[in-house]
This record gives sequence, C-alpha cells and structure tokens, in this order.
Amino acid sequence: MSYSLLNAGQMQPVLDAAYDAGVGVVVMNPLGGGVIAQNRDYFSFACGPEDDGDTVHAALRFARAHPAVDIVLGGVSSVEELEDSVALFSAPDPEPPQARHVRVMDNLSELKGFCTGCRYCDGCPEGIPTSDIMKARNCLLFDPVQDYNRAYPDRLLYNLQLFRPLYFDKSWIPESGESPCIRCGRCERQCTQKLGIIEAVADTYQRAQEAGYTKAAHIERLRELLSDKNYKTVGLYPNGGFSSIIMTQYESEIGKPDFSWVLFNSNPNLWGQRHDGVLIHSPGEIPQINPDIILVCTYSYAKEVYESLKPYRDMGIRVELLHRDTDVPWVF
Ligand code: SF4
Ligand code: SF4
Repeated sequence: MSYSLLNAGQMQPVLDAAYDAGVGVVVMNPLGGGVIAQNRDYFSFACGPEDDGDTVHAALRFARAHPAVDIVLGGVSSVEELEDSVALFSAPDPEPPQARHVRVMDNLSELKGFCTGCRYCDGCPEGIPTSDIMKARNCLLFDPVQDYNRAYPDRLLYNLQLFRPLYFDKSWIPESGESPCIRCGRCERQCTQKLGIIEAVADTYQRAQEAGYTKAAHIERLRELLSDKNYKTVGLYPNGGFSSIIMTQYESEIGKPDFSWVLFNSNPNLWGQRHDGVLIHSPGEIPQINPDIILVCTYSYAKEVYESLKPYRDMGIRVELLHRDTDVPWVF
C-alpha cells in the first residue's frame, strides 16, 4: 500500500486492521512520490532529536515504524541514495518505533491547512466529494512541480497536481465551473482539522473553470471547433484516449456528426488498424484525404505535433490544438 506522511491519517485504520489480521504489508511511496523530499522544510516536523534534522530519514523511519509494516520500498535515483537507504534500514531506529509513530501522528494533526484524508467531512448533500477535493488540495501547500511537459505558470502546474488525483482516483470532473455548494456548513462542522472547506470548494470549481476541467467546457470546446462548420472530414491526431473521448462526447452531447472522423498516427504499426471503429492512417496520407481540419489531441506533445504538421498547414489544411494554454488535459 501507498503510505507516507501525506496519507498517514487516512491509512492508519488499514494498517491497524492488517496488523490485527496478521497480514504482511509492503509500503510503497514512503516519500510521497518525491513530494516530501522536495519540501523538506514543510515536513521537518517529522524529525525527532535522533534524526539530525534529516527529513528524508525521518520520513523513511516513520514509514517503517508502524508494527504492521514489513517492507518499505524506497525509490532511489543514485547509488549514493541507495547506500544511504540501505544503511538507514540496516540499523535499528534510534527512536523507539512506537514513540516515533505517536510523536509524528500528533505533529501531523497540527499541520496548518493539511488535510489528513480522514473523510469525516464526507456526506455533502449536494454530492460534492469534499474529502477527495481537500486531500487533492494538499498539493497547494507545496512548491509546484513541473509535469506533462509544462514548466510554467505555477497556477497551471498546481491545477495539474490538483485535478490529476481527482481524475485518476475518483473519475471526478465537475459538470460546470459553478459550485453546487449551498454553504450549509455540514462539512466544516465535521472537519477534524477545522479546514475552510467551503472556500476551498469554491476555489476548486473556479480553478476547474479556468483549467477547462468541466464537462461543460469540453462540450463548448467541441462546439467551437467542430460543430456547424460544414466540415466533411475531421482528422484527430493521434488516436488514443483523447480521440476516444472527443468522438464519444461529440456524439453523446452534440449529436451524430454530419462529417466523418479520420484518425492519424505516426506509428507505422497502427496504420490500417481501427480504433473505436475508425481507420488509422499515416500522416503521409493527409494530402490525399484532405481533411477540413486536424485536431491535435495530445497534451504533453501538442506543440511538437503541431509543428510536425506545418507542411499540411502550408497546404491550407486547418490544424487546431484541442487544449488551450491554461487547460489541464482532458485525459490525465
Ligand atoms: S457546505 Fe457545501 S460542500 Fe460543505 S456539505 Fe454543505 S453543500 Fe456540501
Ligand atoms: S474532515 Fe477535514 S481533514 Fe478530514 S478529510 Fe475532510 S477536510 Fe480532510
């Protein structure tokens, strides 16, 4: 199981149950996928007098301190880090593990603004997944991380970190940027950390709006790009999760298109195959097929693909990007 300072509150009942049942536990992500190592000052509360101010050591020892944990899988990026981890786990913890566990859990609950993922706030009458949103928002407490081939601006990097777990773990995407919160206060009354959930929910919907991360924004984008344009052929490049969602959403939300879909991919192994029932073509066939528009669907490599299509743009074929600069991807 994934277990670290980031989700320790949420995972305690699981570890306790595993211990009671005598089930072995292997811990992955003891450094929270790098977040803890990148934010050592923030997590320095985990250090006890025996950790010499080394947050990474304290975090690794904490992951092993629960009696249910048998194995800790710590990632390393160099021989030095490997040797450091081996030395750390080859020696007994200088602080009694039980005392370490209690001390860190106490400090964790005092972290300002940090959602422990305890889920006490669940049960919103409007169906808002408050605990999932609040837990995902922990990323806003840390430095932004470059991802998806994006290095700036910080607001976009934060939005990527915020919406990715909501998409992956919960398949949550709001209907629109308008928050359905009626400010009944139920969630805040239940919150063990006294967090400002109502404002956080409002901000999350606001961010979803600006990041194009709503069902309404997706449909609007498809209308803008493809609907009522008298197109005969619409090309999607490349085929994959993005092309699937585009075709499915267009047909379910806008209607049966009065144009034909055509897919392009630079991978020769895919040419001639079908994806979602649509034939995949080589980019070399673009002049012959002569689509009215090619939509660049990828997020991470959108600019590269757009540039690679310059010869076809020069021939007068319209090429557009699915994503705007402030968007998070339609598919994470
Ligand atoms: S205040 Fe808003 S988010 Fe919280 S429970 Fe009430 S409706 Fe849901
Ligand atoms: S009750 Fe508070 S700390 Fe617990 S999951 Fe909800 S927001 Fe997070």
